Amino acid sequence: MPITDVVKKQLAQKRKLFFKICLRCGSKNPISATRCRKCRSEELRLKNRALGAKK
Ligand SMILES: [Zn+2]
Repeated sequence: MPITDVVKKQLAQKRKLFFKICLRCGSKNPISATRCRKCRSEELRLKNRALGAKK
């Protein structure tokens, strides 16, 4: 089912792209997080946002 609502689509893309992933346990963390909320690791990577061009 394609998403026709532009606003919803943008929101979905943000939700999808704006978070960090822990390199140890692989859990999602908020973009503002400096540590993993599960294992307290500081090894977080930013979710790749370069995908934005895909429509
Ligand atoms: Zn973790």
